[in-house]
Amino acid sequence: MDHVPAAKFRQYPHVNEVLCLCDYDYDGDDFTTYPERKGFNKHQLLAGNFSEHPRETTVAFLQSWLFFGVFSAVRKQILEISEITTRNSNGDLIIDAQKLPLLIEKWVRSSSARHSDRIDAVLSEAQAVIEHFCPPLITWQTKYGADGEHPSVIANTIVSPIPPPVACSIALLSASLQTAFTQQFPMQPYVRFSRPASDVFGIPALIFQRFLAAGWCISDVARLSRTYSISTLYFASSIQRNLPSPEFHDHCNLFACSASQVDDSTYMTKHVDEKCQCDHMFSALGDVREILDHGGIPATIVMGDIATVGEKGWLEAVPFENCKAVALSHVWSDGLGNVSQNSIPECQVRRLKGLIDKLYDRPEKESSISAFFKKKKSPKPVGLWLDTLCIPLEKEYRKLAIQRMVDTYAKSDKVLMIDAELTQLSMEDIPAREILISIAGSNWMRRMWTLQEAALNIERLYVQFADGVFEYHTNGVGLTRAWERQKWAYEPIDIDVGSHGHEFSSLHDAHDKSAFNWRATHNSVGLALSGFAGRNTTKQGDVYLCLGGILDLNVGEIHSTPDDQRTEKMLSLVHTYPKSIIFSPGPKLNVPRFGWACETFWKSKILGSAYNDAMNPAIMKEAGLRLEYQGYTIKPFKLPEHFFIMNSTKQDLWIKVTYDPTDTVRIRDKLARAGHDESNMELGLIVPERDVARKGPGAGSPALLVSVYKINGFKESLKDFDNNGAIYSKALCTVLLTSTTEDEHQRYIDSGNEVAYGKKPNESQKTNSVIYATQIWFIA
Ligand SMILES: [Zn+2]
Ligand SMILES: [Zn+2]
Repeated sequence: MDHVPAAKFRQYPHVNEVLCLCDYDYDGDDFTTYPERKGFNKHQLLAGNFSEHPRETTVAFLQSWLFFGVFSAVRKQILEISEITTRNSNGDLIIDAQKLPLLIEKWVRSSSARHSDRIDAVLSEAQAVIEHFCPPLITWQTKYGADGEHPSVIANTIVSPIPPPVACSIALLSASLQTAFTQQFPMQPYVRFSRPASDVFGIPALIFQRFLAAGWCISDVARLSRTYSISTLYFASSIQRNLPSPEFHDHCNLFACSASQVDDSTYMTKHVDEKCQCDHMFSALGDVREILDHGGIPATIVMGDIATVGEKGWLEAVPFENCKAVALSHVWSDGLGNVSQNSIPECQVRRLKGLIDKLYDRPEKESSISAFFKKKKSPKPVGLWLDTLCIPLEKEYRKLAIQRMVDTYAKSDKVLMIDAELTQLSMEDIPAREILISIAGSNWMRRMWTLQEAALNIERLYVQFADGVFEYHTNGVGLTRAWERQKWAYEPIDIDVGSHGHEFSSLHDAHDKSAFNWRATHNSVGLALSGFAGRNTTKQGDVYLCLGGILDLNVGEIHSTPDDQRTEKMLSLVHTYPKSIIFSPGPKLNVPRFGWACETFWKSKILGSAYNDAMNPAIMKEAGLRLEYQGYTIKPFKLPEHFFIMNSTKQDLWIKVTYDPTDTVRIRDKLARAGHDESNMELGLIVPERDVARKGPGAGSPALLVSVYKINGFKESLKDFDNNGAIYSKALCTVLLTSTTEDEHQRYIDSGNEVAYGKKPNESQKTNSVIYATQIWFIA
């Protein structure tokens, strides 16, 4: 897969040869009917059933169809095996992917925007099969890796008969073709060029294996897949990470990294050098309290001469206005915190002072006139805002300081990010794209607070390296722009690595109240909740303060609410949500109108990509959460204990609907709670993608099962046009949809269970049209 370049700095020596397992050329005829011509039942392939023929025959065919066939079909010229293969040292025939870029370029330059429908059709059909052997994130999270087993067990799960390198090469080729075409002919309205792997083409097992081998955390792979395309993931997995120990991430899972969790009872503040035994320097707490009492934000000023060891210095505190305040964004597990007093070792003060002073060493770009006026005033000192020194431990002052956390980062002159892994690297040696990926994978990026600290002052965010600071925003934007101007591109690495910066900027704009913009407000909830997925916080209660800060809610009010009631408090303050939040598994709240919300809704595991979520919010109304999704209504029937099988009459799909196993409340109790009468009330099944309602769940799809108590009929719809045909429901539980096998179906009926009959409420009776009427749901 050499067409995706490998990292230049600290490259992990992966060897991933792709064997050419098919010994016949693609026939050049119609793409969609190729399976039939080769004696395969396409319906079974689309359902992920690869057992019709012996393993070798199947694998060879899938490579012929989805690698050679896909490229042949998009360029309308057969890609012959001889065109792109070579022999390795063992004499095996392997794909020589180095030849791909040239072939892709030749094709994309000769194509035109008119071809986009045909190309979309080929790629989306390919994708429907590919996702069975390169499962999407949700399938990894629910089917292959939900139990939080050892990361290597997840990465080595056998998901299909196709060897992992072959599976990966197939997915990468389709993604590369799609990228090349959309870069050449940008879509309108413009969203972005590449699509995150969590959404399309899935995550090949090989990518997990490569990341783990190179020392990454498995949670990073899941988190990054929500932003990066599969090509960029592949590239990132070639960057080697420094681990404190080989077992460091052994207990992490697909939802979060647990390696750097801090335990207050054993937490140790660290010296710069572990052998150092210098004294601690204490924050000027009297001044800090006074500044907080007067509504200000305190910064620490280092006084005296501490540049040389042995000289005495001390700390003072001044309000932000009286200094050039640098807010530090750091990772507690790196050792700059202190759980028992507001102090840090002198060696750390010396180091931090050196770093923040250096930020002002460089000549500022200013006009000579403003520089002239500035010279007249004596320069303001450089101040340091560090939580350990500027947030007193006493409860009332802590509350004041935390309420001002948003302003602290927004109003600081610069934000300096320090992460122990990055401060050891010389950035001079590393290309900007690799620096951005290293930051995206850093411990710092795994934190919740990062979202706030980085977003609020994104244009002045500096990342500390061994040999200087990296200007985060400028570099990200620079790469993105350069990529967009490129004549053509088959890999989206440079634009993908800028996408975190883009998310931070969007959060920043949403937070900036000077520009009133309803879209921006919706964006912020979607982006914030999406951003929270897969991030950690040391103190569980903090998450609400952090989320509240970003969403510009009353943080003081949240702070005064006991931890166990903060979920409900937050929910009462937020009015729009990313609509995919309803598919998040886990125990649900037993609170009127909020039956769809998880007890820990902010930990929402299943969310669409940040962009999709932001564009299409759900809104809280009197009757519950109002949103638009496709779905089914199900005739009244008696629900079995763990799952049921549904037939969608019109599409003749058989779907297995399994209740979320992580929600411990039994279905009978849920029905009782919702007041659902099985003998005469309908159920509803809300699905995330319209393709699920059209073609079935593919490799697995989440959904929400609800009890329906009212449907707006013709009369109501006339009066209430905005809610035409709306379905009013109460949430029962999240479910996982999978295709069902005939065996399973038979066993289900033999055990005396009833088959459920579902129909799409808004489907026209006569046609099998692909035009979808919107379907509005209210979920309480
Ligand atoms: Zn980890
Ligand atoms: Zn020391």
